[in-house]
Amino acid sequence: MFQTVDVLGAKISNASVEEIVGFLAGRIKQKQNTVVYTPNSEIIEQFHKDEKLLSLLNSADVLAADGIGVVYGAKILGTPLKCRAAGYDIACRLLEVGAKEGFGFYLFGSKEEVCHLAKENLEKKYPGIRIVGTQNGYFQEPVGETIAKTNPDVVFVCLGARKQEEWIYENKHLFSGTTFLGIGGSMDVFAGVVKRAPDIFIKLNLEWFYRLLKQPTRFIRMLALPRFLWRVILRKTKQR
Ligand code: UDP
Repeated sequence: MFQTVDVLGAKISNASVEEIVGFLAGRIKQKQNTVVYTPNSEIIEQFHKDEKLLSLLNSADVLAADGIGVVYGAKILGTPLKCRAAGYDIACRLLEVGAKEGFGFYLFGSKEEVCHLAKENLEKKYPGIRIVGTQNGYFQEPVGETIAKTNPDVVFVCLGARKQEEWIYENKHLFSGTTFLGIGGSMDVFAGVVKRAPDIFIKLNLEWFYRLLKQPTRFIRMLALPRFLWRVILRKTKQR
């Protein structure tokens, strides 16, 4: 397990994408269930006020620092993280490793046609990849047992914040030797219906700004970022 840094109560793993993927590959080979949540500042802002949600978040084996806000927050608090570890990047690297190792991946979340497009694209991009099933994220009946029957090594759970963390928490006992990755809108990116920010935006830590330009309807949600930073500053002043 990784050392953690406390950011408004969330115990963020101080680990790079490469270290996280190495850890997950080991856990898959040892046939152990592993939960990875990938909170950004918006999610921490939403979860930190509620003890129950916060302990759900902290029950993960890995809490990856998905957004740059989390990295800045840790720095302001005087306990810097070594780097950002975006959920999408963890998923891509795990797909690369998994294609070589023969891991079975299950794609769960978003609309039916998006799942199918994502499967097609991933099979092209990662030759040899084994995708053992897909399930859209707008189910009416419980789907945990059906997914578990496919014996996946990895399930990408892309249901959006809170719904995906709760689903993993409530269903993981149905699986054995499975890694769960809660990675929000990543299915839409795999399918190509949403574009990830160009590298220059990522390098300049402006991925959030690119998302805002592309999806202006996220504006209200994104107000969580300044609120989060303000709360971090308040926490820091209280520490003094
Ligand atoms: N979604 C889903 N089922 C739901 C609600 C949302 O499958 O009941 C999907 C939605 O189609 C989208 C993803 O979850 O693909 C949420 O993406 P978003 O970028 O909002 O993720 P977040 O920022 O919350 O991690």
